[in-house]
Amino acid sequence: MKPRVLLIEDNANNRYLASFILEQLGLHVIHAENGRDGVAMARAERPDLILLDIQMPEMDGYEAGRLLLDDPVTASIPIIVVTSFAMPGDKAKAMAMGFADYIEKPFDPEVFSAKVRTHLPPSGTPPT
Ligand code: MN
Repeated sequence: MKPRVLLIEDNANNRYLASFILEQLGLHVIHAENGRDGVAMARAERPDLILLDIQMPEMDGYEAGRLLLDDPVTASIPIIVVTSFAMPGDKAKAMAMGFADYIEKPFDPEVFSAKVRTHLPPSGTPPT
């Protein structure tokens, strides 16, 4: 069974690009288009990894991420924050909150792939 990645991202172009790369890595991609739906989907599906945009309608990535980290059902799922909101201190804030990693948009596909692989559980690492 393919490892499952939940992509929480409101921008359709970014979803398309990220999904393409994730599928190339042999992953099954599910997605949500805002933080609120993303939290609900994470709780229901319990994916192996979550990619979380910060700037989103309904509920932003920080709030959604906080809920996921605080919920025993989802707390052990690694969350990689993906954001173009490159404010000074943004990365430090994300890491301090307990997220597993941080990717800046626009992302380099190789960096993106490497970080995703790093945070997949060992059993879920696709063969190279
Ligand atoms: Mn966004």
